[in-house]
Order: sequence, then structure tokens, then C-alpha cells
Amino acid sequence: MLKKFFSYYVPYKKLFAIDFICAVISAILELFFPIAVNMVIDQILPQGNLRHIVMFSVLLFALYLFNTTMNYIVVYIGHVFGSHIETDMRKELFEHFQKQSYAYFDKMKTGDLMSRITTDLFEISELAHHGPEDVFITIMTLVGAFLLMLNVHIPLALMTVALIPILGVVLGLFSRYMVNINVSIKQNLGRFNAGIQNSISGMRVVKAFANESYENNIFVDLAEKYRLAMVRFYNSMATSSSFNYIVMRLINLFALLAGSYYTIVGELTIGELVGYILLSNVFIRPLERINAMLEVYPKGYAGFVRLQEELNKEPDIVDHPNAVEAPKFEGNIRYDNVSFGYNKEKPVLENVTIDIKAGQTVAFVGPSGAGKTTLVNLLPRFYEITSGQITVDGVDIQDVTMQSLRKQIGIVQQDVFLFDGTIKENVLYGRLDATDEEVEAAIDSAKLREVISNLPDGIDTQIGERGVSLSGGQKQRLSIARIFLKNPKILILDEATSALDTATERFIQSSLDELSQGRTSLVIAHRLATITNADRIIVVTPEGIMEDGTHEELLAQNNIYADLYRSQFGGM
Ligand code: ADP
Ligand code: MG
Repeated sequence: MLKKFFSYYVPYKKLFAIDFICAVISAILELFFPIAVNMVIDQILPQGNLRHIVMFSVLLFALYLFNTTMNYIVVYIGHVFGSHIETDMRKELFEHFQKQSYAYFDKMKTGDLMSRITTDLFEISELAHHGPEDVFITIMTLVGAFLLMLNVHIPLALMTVALIPILGVVLGLFSRYMVNINVSIKQNLGRFNAGIQNSISGMRVVKAFANESYENNIFVDLAEKYRLAMVRFYNSMATSSSFNYIVMRLINLFALLAGSYYTIVGELTIGELVGYILLSNVFIRPLERINAMLEVYPKGYAGFVRLQEELNKEPDIVDHPNAVEAPKFEGNIRYDNVSFGYNKEKPVLENVTIDIKAGQTVAFVGPSGAGKTTLVNLLPRFYEITSGQITVDGVDIQDVTMQSLRKQIGIVQQDVFLFDGTIKENVLYGRLDATDEEVEAAIDSAKLREVISNLPDGIDTQIGERGVSLSGGQKQRLSIARIFLKNPKILILDEATSALDTATERFIQSSLDELSQGRTSLVIAHRLATITNADRIIVVTPEGIMEDGTHEELLAQNNIYADLYRSQFGGM
């Protein structure tokens, strides 16, 4: 874990070195000041010459100024260094998220993920910036002050220092406890953020059901749990800081008492006594630092543990080591004995075999929950099959890169997700390097022109988060424009028009028919009217594929499809 942690330092060795060296110089200078006071009292003061004292003060002032500069560098460069590490980790984490499969995002909660990538990483960077520096300076100052104290009076110094190991043991135990508390704070914060995200993104539903007070209660509950976790943390912070304080003051007091004794018996001069008391102050200052570390260290460490835990999760669907760029598809698709389940206990598809010729339109119909969406989602490898094989033009989809596979598959779903931004940006998402003319052509093909001409800023109109300012049909047309622009060889339409009214459906259907031209299309349809002229219709039921044929053939079989058809169109 430590090795991994320091690997983030490597690109910023220089910044860290500057920060570190300045911090060390500054700590050494702090050691020097008590000696200076000792000198003033014992050597310069007895001379009775004010000029010497003034000169000495000027010298000290110069040193203070120098130390101020050091301090500036430590604070500024240290944070620049920390911010680099924070950003690097953030990039790594974001890339990690991008690599994950559908299954990962089925389980994860947006708010939790947000808190990992924001709060956690900030706290880790604080640790990266302060951690090693503080540890080193603490040890150095303790040792340095101790040596100087020894130089003043050996038995006195030894007695003073005897108090330290006790403090060390107590604080060591404490810091372990604090890491645990911080892991729990982070889990609570994650749940809290996930709760807010859930509730805010569902605000329209909340209002529709007038369930604001219910949502408020959930929120208050989560906020309260988070607060309690923090209270536990601050309780232990307060305990450790009080404990620290009393130990520090004991050391001070002891220096005064025992030091006075040695002064009275003539073993110490007044200057040495004052210098020693000031030294004991320098000596205990790192103890204050340790207390600050007790806040930074457990938070950062807990965050780093969570970060590593996350980064160590291997994406469950990856390119095979010798995957190649997929050739340009013609569009022959074959499912060969394919089985799949979201979990081991309950298979959704078992030994499914389907053969689809390039250019065909194949419709999948059947009851909800039968596995139609699951079936088509296996083709772009959104989920990985458990056994069997899926090929396109005879090439196993697992032998090509996911990028090159997915670039050649276009998917239109029932829920369209649009990004916050303009219409143009959303269409461009289909193929980022498309020209303006291509975007315009896609807009025409998707019959989006009329929608755009009624908008204030035309194609540059902002459509709001998830495209809230567009109607269902308009959103669907936009998503179709995206696919026209992408121009894939294989098309998947998963209940693309199910959420629309019949008039809009008919209108969109004509765009979809046009989109299907020259492509292999897998169409999942709820309303059978849209698929009666498909080349083939496959009936999927929870028991598997039950029927396969043209509309006329299946009607003639007078079985499941025929029943479905009659239930939608009545009589016959
Ligand atoms: P259809 O599209 O035919 O309505 P689905 O393919 O969506 O059916 O679902 C088939 C089965 O798989 C259902 O029992 C459903 O509950 C389950 N299922 C669908 N998606 C997931 C998922 N992401 N995780 C776990 N189970 C799922
Ligand atoms: Mg479905």
C-alpha cells in the first residue's frame, strides 16, 4: 500500500523535493531561536550595550524574514504538489469508471461514486502533501531539540524526554481507531450523496406523488447518520488533543520546575534556564503537529484504502489480449448455443441459436421480462455470455476490440438519454468527427428539421439536463439522428417507439424504416403493427425461443404469435 502511495509522487519528485527541503530548513531555524535567546541573556545582556542587542535583533529579523519565505514556499508548493497528485488520481479513477461494464453500473450508486472522486481524493492529496513532510519534521525537530536540550543539561533533558514514549503509544493506538472511524464516515457520506442524487434526479416523481415529506425523512435520516459518524470522529479528535495538551504542558512545567532547581543549585545560568524552557516549547511543538496529523492521516489513509479497493476491481468485460480491430461488417449475425444469466442462480437465456442474414430485419416479440433486451445487449458485449458463441460475419465478437465492434452497432432504446448541451452536440455524439454537413443531413433524415426550426437558437438550442425541454417524440428523433450520423451496419431498436403515442409512433416509424435500409436490424417491438413486414419474427418467452418465421407463417401456425396478434388487433 505504501509503495503504491509513493508511486504517485514520482512525476513530481522535484516539487516535492523543494517543498521538503524548505520545510526542513524552516524547522531547523525554529531550533535556532531558543539558542539565540540564551545567547542574548547570558552573553550580550551582561555587556550592557543596547547597540549589540539591536544588531542581534536585526540579524534575527533577517532570519525571520527568510523563514517566512520558506514558509510561503512550503505552503504554496506543497499544495501545488498535492493538487497534482489529486488530479492524477482523479484521472485514473475516472478512466477506471469508463472501463467498467453494464453490470458494474447496474450495482453502483452515482452519489457514492461522486463522493469518491471528489471528497476522498481531496483528503488523499492532503495526506500526500503533509504526510511524509510532517513525519520527517516531527522526528527531526524532536531529535534536534532533544540534542540541544542535552547540551544544556543532560539529566534534565533525559527526564523531560521520558514522557514521550507514553504519548507515542497512546497516539499510535488512537490513529488506528481514527482510520476505522473515517472509513465509516466515508461510507456514510457515500450513502448520503447517493440518497441526495436519487431523490433529486427523481424530483418530478416525488412531486407527482406529493411525497416530499417522505423524501425529507429519508434525507434527514442519512444526514443524521453522517453527522453521528462525524461526531464520533470529533469526539476522538477532542480526546486526543486534550491528552496532547496536558502532556505538552506537563513537559513545560517540568522544564520550569526541574530547571529552576538546577538553576538554584548553580548548575544552570538564567539564560540557559530561559533557553531550555523555550527549547522545551520547540520540543513539544511537533506534538501539536502530531495532533493535526491525526486529522489528516486517518482521513487520507481511509480515502486511499477506498481508492485502491476501487481501482483493484478489474472490469469484468475487457478486450481479449489478442483482440483485433473488427473488419467492416456486412452484418451476418449468429447466436450459437448462447446462454446467459445476470447471476448464476437464474439463467435468462439458455442455448439460444439464431441465424440472421446481412440486411435482414428480424423482430423479437414476447412477454415483458422474457429476455429480449438481454438477448440484444449481448451483441455489443454489454454483458458477457456464459457459454456459446456470438459471431458477426463469422468473426467471434470476443476476438475483436469492443470499440471496433460497438462503432458498427447502433442502438435506439425506449428511454433516450441526452446530455446537457445543445442539439448539435447531442447529434454529434453519434460520430464526434462528423462535419457540419453530415450533422445537417442526419437531422434531415431523422425528420428533426421541423423541430429545430421552431426553436429559438435552432441547432444550438440548449436542451437542459437529460433533454427536459424536448418532448418524448423529439428526443427520440434526436437519438435517431445520432444513429444516422453514426451509420452503423447493425441496428438494434429496443422498443424505440413504445413510449410514444400512436401518431408520433407512426411518424417516427417512417424514420426508423429508412434507418433500417441497408442494415441488419434487430427490432424489439411491443406493438406488433410496427413489425408485421419484418423478414422474420422471433417469439421469445421465458421458456426460450418458441416461434420463428414471417408474419404470415406465424399466423398460420396459430400459436403464441397468433394469439398475441389477435389480442392486439381483436377478432380476425
Ligand atoms: P424483456 O426485454 O424481454 O422485457 P429483459 O431482457 O429486460 O426482458 O429481462 C429478462 C430478465 O432479466 C428479467 O427477469 C429481468 O428481471 C432480468 N434482468 C434484466 N436486466 C437485468 C439486470 N441489469 N440485472 C439483473 N437482472 C436483470
Ligand atoms: Mg426489454
